[in-house]
Amino acid sequence: MSKYWNNRTKNIIPYVPGEQPKDRKFIKLNTNENPYPPSPKVIEAVKNAANADLRLYPDPDCTMFREAAALRYGVKPEQVFAGNGSDEILAFAFGAFFESTAADGTGEKEILFPDITYSFYPVYADLWGIPFRKIPLLDDFSIKGADYRIPCGGVIFPNPNAPTGKPVPLADILSLAGYLAEQDRVLIVDEAYAAFGTETAVPYITKHPNLLVVHTLSKWAGLAGLRFGFAVGSEELIEGLCRIKDSFNSYTVDRLALAGAAAAIEDSAYYDGINKKVMQTRDRTSDELRSLGFNVIPSAANFLFVKAPNTDGFVFFTVLREKGILTRHFNKERISDYLRVSIGTDEEMDIFLEECRKISNK
Ligand code: PMP
Repeated sequence: MSKYWNNRTKNIIPYVPGEQPKDRKFIKLNTNENPYPPSPKVIEAVKNAANADLRLYPDPDCTMFREAAALRYGVKPEQVFAGNGSDEILAFAFGAFFESTAADGTGEKEILFPDITYSFYPVYADLWGIPFRKIPLLDDFSIKGADYRIPCGGVIFPNPNAPTGKPVPLADILSLAGYLAEQDRVLIVDEAYAAFGTETAVPYITKHPNLLVVHTLSKWAGLAGLRFGFAVGSEELIEGLCRIKDSFNSYTVDRLALAGAAAAIEDSAYYDGINKKVMQTRDRTSDELRSLGFNVIPSAANFLFVKAPNTDGFVFFTVLREKGILTRHFNKERISDYLRVSIGTDEEMDIFLEECRKISNK
């Protein structure tokens, strides 16, 4: 605590990202990166951008990417927003669409998100001073859309949810968007992991002008290191995001990221191939874990949420770490027995499964 910090800095509890080890080589299954490299076309585009004019500022409107994304998703460039990772876009979206007025006692200003979800959401809410309420997941860890159909300041959740990997039916999302529109509230669907088998809500942004769909290139595009995310929504929502961004930093996306992201969005052939492989590896790993007596939540993401038989989650995490396998443990109510395990290559998952076999004594 420093006397120079203002109250906001004193009170905020920052998000803690997963470990990025520097001094030891791990099988890294802890931050849901893609185990495969980005498309060669992306590397070429980034190299070309590096050799072009880095002396000049990048395009503050990210036109090249917005046009490429518009073509790919069948929307208008004005319905696409680009940012420095989807975390940044989520932070802007909280600031743009959720009211920071203190709760008025009726609860109608509180935004809603699940009790078990991406742990950055309460941090953004606190940063902007937005009151929030956590809605419990059902016992099987699913999000029940109807639980969010209450007067509120807006709703956000990931689809599929993180860290459970469970998808939310699109019909629930659309009906919730309709309900929230009656109150002039926004629904943000964070589709960070949707490319691994969940139907996207993007085609419905015209019918639902209060629906913002947020995507990242960190997972399906193998570009966590490039820092690039984007959002698709009605022109009025995108303009709202631009107003916040342009009140903060005109150039959030650099020239290299912009060129690489545009190339990634255009190379579906490469990405369909590697992500099909990730999904196959995920399904095989789930089957094998279940046969060893592990409880695996059915996943539509590039990770599994796994509970070991007769072993506490932290012990499971520690045993794997000692063997050089990094996973993510959340020391939180209801989920402390589980580990989130990103899907690696087949070879990496075989080493992980071998350690799981030892833990299960089978
Ligand atoms: N949303 C969810 C649900 C995530 O798990 C992550 C990754 N930590 C993000 C958003 C942020 O992704 P990025 O900032 O790398 O685009």
